[in-house]
Amino acid sequence: MCIFCKIIEKEIPSTILYEDDKVIAFKDVNPVAPVHFLVVPKQHIASLAEVEDADEGILGHILNVCSKVAKTFPECENGYRVINNCGENAGQTVHHIHFHVIGGVNMGEKLI
Ligand code: AMP
Ligand code: ZN
Repeated sequence: MCIFCKIIEKEIPSTILYEDDKVIAFKDVNPVAPVHFLVVPKQHIASLAEVEDADEGILGHILNVCSKVAKTFPECENGYRVINNCGENAGQTVHHIHFHVIGGVNMGEKLI
């Protein structure tokens, strides 16, 4: 079982910020900003490259949850960034699709 599946099954502790039957949001253990959490589907999908047409609904739900949880942080009032690392060139290290939400800092430098 992958590390995020273990978090979903509560076999590994995490600081859970939101959970429903389809997704879980928890704090990143190695935060890169004052706010840094991950939104993860409970269904094990390895990466964005493995998404199928049937997964469109869950992808929309994930972004909605990113927005909902970000709203609970005053640090995100002036904006935040949502990041998905897909595959080797993007540096994906956990092969269970996840979306990073990062906020509370002015990210002046942008890749795009
Ligand atoms: P990525 O490089 O996009 O695959 O991101 C994986 C993220 O998962 C990293 O930011 C890690 O800090 C985070 N991470 C790894 N293990 C855990 C864990 N047990 N609890 C919370 N976050 C984790
Ligand atoms: Zn998994």
